[in-house]
Amino acid sequence: AAKDMGGSAFKFYNAELAASWQARTFIINELESALSRQELIVYYQPIISLSLNHALYAEALVRWNHPVRGMIPPSDFLPQAERMGLIDKIDDYVFKRVCDDLKQWTNSGRAVPHISINRSAHNFGGQRARLDWLAYLREVSIPSELITLEITESTLMQKQSESRMLLYRLRDADIKIAVDDFGTGYSSLSYLKEMDVDYLKIDRSFIHDIDQSEDDRAIVEAITEMAKRLDIMVIAEGVETAIQAEILKNIGCHALQGFFYSKPLSKSEFEVYLRSFENG
Ligand code: C2E
Ligand code: MG
Ligand code: MG
Ligand code: MG
Repeated sequence: AAKDMGGSAFKFYNAELAASWQARTFIINELESALSRQELIVYYQPIISLSLNHALYAEALVRWNHPVRGMIPPSDFLPQAERMGLIDKIDDYVFKRVCDDLKQWTNSGRAVPHISINRSAHNFGGQRARLDWLAYLREVSIPSELITLEITESTLMQKQSESRMLLYRLRDADIKIAVDDFGTGYSSLSYLKEMDVDYLKIDRSFIHDIDQSEDDRAIVEAITEMAKRLDIMVIAEGVETAIQAEILKNIGCHALQGFFYSKPLSKSEFEVYLRSFENG
């Protein structure tokens, strides 16, 4: 029996290996053409403002709408995209799609949301020629204050002066800077002093058990208190229940994001949300 189990375990292992290898190969083969075939699409997750100045706010999140495999989440292809050196192209593509959408919403005379865009660390300090976001915003006449850049702590920690210079340049042009997944990275708080960030997005791992865990509550309270004194807005990620929302409101977070309010929406779903906002 032990031999049988060993045998099946071996087969299982091989199958797993083959499956993951196949998955990797398909991504490597098809990701580049996915960009040119416009299979990458942008979803928008509403961010609920409690006391942000801007009422309408959402995060742009990429998905791969594969003709055969269906909707593929970013966690299944962004790591490969980073290794293949394609992440810059993807971020630029998402940025352009967001600008297109902002242009459409502006032209239709409706309320225009502020959009947060994730930008990978690999974009900073690279030598490759890539889209100049400020020039592009000017070209399509989208006000740069509609755009927030979400970057992780590790990106902010990069000491390459090129990364810093680019961030400063974007900031000087009124693009907002948000620290994504705050609290999970390689956290030296010194960048908060140096970089003058606008938002901290508290990672959802601190929110998930906040109704049970005194520790998580203490951490979120301390982050919020610190942020307020530094004049930084706090957004809580991954809010899934009414109880969590209530606790976070009482703590004084400025905005909440999570499935309790809305999952990420397709463009047309998001437009319905925008309209309901106007009427309400
Ligand atoms: P993120 O920037 O921290 O985005 C939030 C993620 O949490 C999204 O996952 C969102 O769907 C998910 N989320 C939101 N509310 C809840 C909730 O209440 N509960 C739970 N469990 N999850 C929630 P998604 O869309 O799968 O994206 C995963 C990550 O992929 C993002 O994390 C971001 O790091 C990256 N990403 C997504 N789009 C882009 C992009 O265009 N460029 C880059 N560089 N990265 C991106
Ligand atoms: Mg994000
Ligand atoms: Mg996050
Ligand atoms: Mg994340």
